[in-house]
Amino acid sequence: MTANEKRFPLNLSSVVDQRGALRKSPTAMPQTAMQNAAIHTKNLKNNLPPLAKTVVTSSISNASSASKREPDRISTNKALPSAGMGMVSDKIRQAMVARVAQQGVKDNLVLAALEAIPRHLFIESGLASQAYIDASLPIGHHQTISQPYIVARMTEILRNGKNLQRVLEIGTGCGYQAAVLSLVAKEVYSIERIKALHELAKNNLRPMRIANIRLHYGDGMLGLPQVAPFDGIILAAAGLEVPRALLEQLAIGGRLIAPVGGRQQVLQLVERVSQHEWASSVLEQCHFVPLHQGVV
Ligand code: SAH
Repeated sequence: MTANEKRFPLNLSSVVDQRGALRKSPTAMPQTAMQNAAIHTKNLKNNLPPLAKTVVTSSISNASSASKREPDRISTNKALPSAGMGMVSDKIRQAMVARVAQQGVKDNLVLAALEAIPRHLFIESGLASQAYIDASLPIGHHQTISQPYIVARMTEILRNGKNLQRVLEIGTGCGYQAAVLSLVAKEVYSIERIKALHELAKNNLRPMRIANIRLHYGDGMLGLPQVAPFDGIILAAAGLEVPRALLEQLAIGGRLIAPVGGRQQVLQLVERVSQHEWASSVLEQCHFVPLHQGVV
């Protein structure tokens, strides 16, 4: 067991006391959806050119790394619509993926999944021009769609180069992360506690006809014992500690990745070593919406 591994249950101090071990990520700037929305509003007011155009321009320097990278073929027969923005969104999305790769995400299957999922279809049309900026954005109900980098990073860590069978996501939100997961795992279960967002995710995912996602409305802190064990569990909202029920629903050898903390948060990786043993390590800083109990 290394210095940043701990047995469970863990309390908050056991996580925050390890700050020395934190690796500062270039993208760890806490960027709230409110800030992004404010920038968006300001840009609209200033009558700037469409942000979609700005993104392409600002990522030209990354284009070479995009063309060098050979994405894995995703074996899926899913017809993902590129609706509306078509070719333009494909190019902008490739540039986004190149930036995510530049930030250190190496897993080609994950990068290919990011390239395949049209993120602009998961956010309201007024914000669609910002869909391929590396930022979280508001999706209503004080919640956000996660930053593309963090979605990719967490998926990469979860996968660890292996084929995932059954994964569980806590915090479906608009369904974007679930769609990304559906391309790297055989079965994806995702739970959302806000009924309106559960419905939003259903509506967003329906036209994509992704056959291996099951959406559940409920309290994700309880997990899905009827479907467990999972070989991967991913939390899209931060609690002060990882809920015990989720640790119990992790398969032996499985991985759980979760933001942990309050104002200061870190990504925590938990691996189930045996029936009664979990090893945990702290990765980078992050910024997520809070994990709440119960349903609304
Ligand atoms: N996965 C989303 C991110 C959504 S934000 C994406 O792809 O971008 C996090 C979500 O977690 C919010 O929708 C919030 O309502 C939800 N959440 C918070 N606590 C929860 C809980 N206990 N169970 C299920 N969902 C929860």
